Amino acid sequence: MSTLHANIPIKPAYVDLHIHSTASDGSLLPAEIIEIANKVGLRAIAITDHDTLEGSIEALRHQHSSGLEILSGIEISASFDSGTMHILGYLMRLDDASLIETLKVVQEARANRNVQIVKRLQHLGADISYDELLEVSGGGQIGRPHIAQVLVRKGIVENMDGAFNKLLKKGRSAYVERYRLLPVEAFQTILRAGGVPVLAHPFTLNAETEGDLDTILADLKQAGLKGVEVYHPAHGPALTAQYERLAHRHGLLVTGGTDFHGTAKPGIHIGIGRGGLRVPYRLVEELKRCAASGLRPYSVTP
Ligand code: AMP
Ligand code: FE
Ligand code: FE
Ligand code: ZN
Repeated sequence: MSTLHANIPIKPAYVDLHIHSTASDGSLLPAEIIEIANKVGLRAIAITDHDTLEGSIEALRHQHSSGLEILSGIEISASFDSGTMHILGYLMRLDDASLIETLKVVQEARANRNVQIVKRLQHLGADISYDELLEVSGGGQIGRPHIAQVLVRKGIVENMDGAFNKLLKKGRSAYVERYRLLPVEAFQTILRAGGVPVLAHPFTLNAETEGDLDTILADLKQAGLKGVEVYHPAHGPALTAQYERLAHRHGLLVTGGTDFHGTAKPGIHIGIGRGGLRVPYRLVEELKRCAASGLRPYSVTP
């Protein structure tokens, strides 16, 4: 009877490796995220808050009772002239001194920028205060979505998109630049902490052609990049296929997640995105293999 289980189909296991909590601009606590991930039946998650490990640290406190595998995660903004570059980091040691120190610098730059944005808005005649931002952010890293939320709540703009499109996005009157790490600095910070750096939602780089993105990925890989976020609710079938192709060509890992933010991005659900997203567990195994191999800066081994 050694084939007792032979005919029982193995239930596929899915994960969500891109989730925001109240530690940055998400609307749910890490514990609430874990509860939903369990209901959805996910096997593993990573909380990837903007420029902070606090969401991951809090989630990992619940590791034993969670019924899930929880990977440490973060999403770091890097400088990139022609678009937005977000770099996901997975499986970092959370007590790495250089990582913590670097994040402190980045967080300070973010806080200073927020003060400047509020000043700009006040100058433009908007009745908004920094205290109101503190209130909506609930103590985590404050981002432009929080500012947008206050602007909506006070009837200054109609909705979140309006806040970004009229005031907050690059080129608009209340946009303020901030210090960001160079891509290579973000990669090396994550690698030194034992983690795996992955390029988030590549379309935000605004590369015009597949050839352009191909060149960018070659440069980023040289600088330490290890993976590409291929599965994301904003990637349709053509983009998903393109990113998969490019990841393979460059020997980069593939990851995926929903970029769940709760009420800040309505219509996106943990584990499934807009309904159709499925990210297989085997990608987590590959991430773990990469982290365990201790690949170091500028390594050329995929
Ligand atoms: P920040 O990190 O403060 O520079 O803000 C960037 C964040 O704003 C990103 O996490 C995006 O998810 C979010 N964001 C960008 N555009 C929009 C939008 N139109 N509506 C809601 N959130 C947005
Ligand atoms: Fe966000
Ligand atoms: Fe992002
Ligand atoms: Zn994100």
